[in-house]
Amino acid sequence: ISRNRIDMEKFPVWRGIGAGSGIGGGWSQGWGRRLARIPVFDYPVWLVRCRGGRARLIEVCQRGRGAIRLPTDMLSIKLPQLFDIHQVPKVFREDSIISGYRHPRSSALDCVLSSFQMTNETVNIWTHFLPTWYFLWRFSVLCSTLNFMTDSYTWPLLVYMLLICIYPFTSSCAHTFSSMSPESRHICYFFDYGALSLYSLGCAVSYGYYVIPDSWVNSWLQQHFVTIAIGNTLFCTSLSCYSRFLELQFPQRSKVLRTGAFVFPFIFDTTPLFYRLLLCCGGSCSPSDALSSHCYHLLFAFLTCFLFTAHLPERLAPGRFDYFGHSHQLFHVSAVLGTNFQMEAVITDMMSRRAALLAHGAMPSFLGTIGVLVISLFLNLGIIGIFSAPLLWKPFHSSNQVFVCWRPGSKAI
Ligand SMILES: [Zn+2]
Repeated sequence: ISRNRIDMEKFPVWRGIGAGSGIGGGWSQGWGRRLARIPVFDYPVWLVRCRGGRARLIEVCQRGRGAIRLPTDMLSIKLPQLFDIHQVPKVFREDSIISGYRHPRSSALDCVLSSFQMTNETVNIWTHFLPTWYFLWRFSVLCSTLNFMTDSYTWPLLVYMLLICIYPFTSSCAHTFSSMSPESRHICYFFDYGALSLYSLGCAVSYGYYVIPDSWVNSWLQQHFVTIAIGNTLFCTSLSCYSRFLELQFPQRSKVLRTGAFVFPFIFDTTPLFYRLLLCCGGSCSPSDALSSHCYHLLFAFLTCFLFTAHLPERLAPGRFDYFGHSHQLFHVSAVLGTNFQMEAVITDMMSRRAALLAHGAMPSFLGTIGVLVISLFLNLGIIGIFSAPLLWKPFHSSNQVFVCWRPGSKAI
C-alpha cells in the first residue's frame, strides 16, 4: 500500500466482508481517517486504515484473491511434450534442427493440436495451409468470371488452379501428420511428393496451351507436351518416393535424387517459357504483361531450389532457427510466392493470347486437360500405393521392436 496516496476527502470505505447485513462490513460512506490506494487492482479501492485495519486488509485481499481466482486446472491445456534431436529416432531428424520435435508416436488428434503449439513443424504447416485458402479464393473468383463448364479454352487453367490448391494443402497435411510413426511419416511425404509432381503436370498443361511461343503452336512438341509431362510425373513421384528409402543410409544421394526428381519436370515444363524469353532477349517478341510475372516466378523458383538444397540459414547456426526462419519454412514461402507470380502470368497469357492461340491452334480437349489430370491422379496414387504397401504390410511386431527400446528422454536407437 502506498502511503503517499493519502487523502482526507470523503470516499466510500470498505468495511469488510460480511457486508450488506450492515454489521461491520460492506461499502459505506464515511470519513476516511487514513485513506490509501491499492495498486494491485485495476480500479481504485479506497479504504480506511485504523486499528486492526492492516490485518483486516490482508484478510480481505486473501479472500478476494480466492474469490476471483480462475479455475486454472480447468483452463490449462496440457500441451504435448517436445523433444530434442537426440531424443527422437533418426528418421524424424532434420538437418541442423535441434529442438521442437513432436512425439514420434503422436496420435492424429495430437498432430492436429500440435499445429497450434509451437513446434519445429508449426510454421511449415501454416505456410502452406493459409496459401491454400488464398488460392481457393482466387479460384472461386475465376469461377465466377470464367465459364469453366462449357468454355474448353479455360480447361488448362482449371487443371492448373485445382493443382495449385491441392499441393499446398497436401503439404500442410503431410507436415501435420508426419509424427504419427516412421511409416506414416514416409507415407505423408509420398503424398506430398505426389501432389508436387501433379502440380508440375498442371504447369505443363497450362504452359503447353497458354505460354507456348507462337512459333511452337501446332508443333510436334506442343502435340506431345502433355503426354511427356504425364511420364515426367510418374518419374518424379517414383524417384522422390524412392529417395526416402535411401535417406538414412545415403543422405547425400537421397537429396540429389529428390532434387533431381523435381528439377527435371520443372526444366521440361519451363522450356516454352525459356524459349519465349530468349526470343525477347533477341528483340523478336511481342511485349507482354505476363513476361514480368513469369520472370518473378523463375526468380522464386531458383530461390526455392536453393533453399531446398542449401539448408540455410540453420546450417550456419544449428538450433537457432528451430522454430522460426529455417530453410524449409523459407522454402514453403518462396514456393508459394513463386506460384502466385506464375498464376498471375498464366492468367494474363490466357486472357491476352486467346485470339492468337485459337487462330493457329486447336481448342484444348477434355481428354488433354481434365482427362489427363484424372489419369495422372490415379497413376500417381498407384505409385504411392506401391511404395506405401511394404510399410503398411510390415509385420506390426517388427515396427514395435524398433521402438520398444525407445523412451522419451532416452537416447534414440
Ligand atoms: Zn514442406
